[in-house]
Amino acid sequence: MSALSDLYENIRCCGKCEIARTRTQSVPGEGAEDAEIMFIGEAPGFREDQLGRPFVGQAGKFLDELLALIGLDRKQVYIANVVKCRPPTNRDPLPQEILNCRPWLNKQIDIIQPKVIVTLGRFSMAMFFPQKTIGKIHGTVENRDGVLYVPMYHPAAALHQANLKEVIKADFLKLPEYIAAGKEMSEVKKESVATTKQLRMFEV
Ligand code: URA
Repeated sequence: MSALSDLYENIRCCGKCEIARTRTQSVPGEGAEDAEIMFIGEAPGFREDQLGRPFVGQAGKFLDELLALIGLDRKQVYIANVVKCRPPTNRDPLPQEILNCRPWLNKQIDIIQPKVIVTLGRFSMAMFFPQKTIGKIHGTVENRDGVLYVPMYHPAAALHQANLKEVIKADFLKLPEYIAAGKEMSEVKKESVATTKQLRMFEV
């Protein structure tokens, strides 16, 4: 079993929160284990809860469109959520639910080791950019230990506010450049680790 499928098994059995009792099934996430870019949304909605897959409703359709805009599809990226179970009536996830679910997301990041992490929406942004305002920082990039973090509007926001559609598209168009930069940084990091190892061989 791969590390990811092992993790999915554990997420499927998780019963830490009350919403584990109202879910149809949990929605661990999906995509390539070696994805260079990872998208983190909020929580499953009705369709996601029914199908056990992230972003398969209206917001997901727009996310697919955005990925196509930069020549990517779902199989090449990784898509997860802050919370893996559907909050009833699509209410906001509770702080305790986010806290309980955090170790699953951390493990996903550890396994995939993406070069770019894109937060989609306020709950995901709050996790990585606390106290920041999306209107000010959307589409920008922050380098943390060689991983690039990019906060973005949630695709569902564009379904309610048509003017955000073009904003999100413009932000997505920056992603290929960020991915290239992330890849380059990780190559440099690997090279410097190799050089350090080689130099250590000559240490007395
Ligand atoms: N919205 C999210 O944040 N995640 C999903 O999986 C679907 C809709």
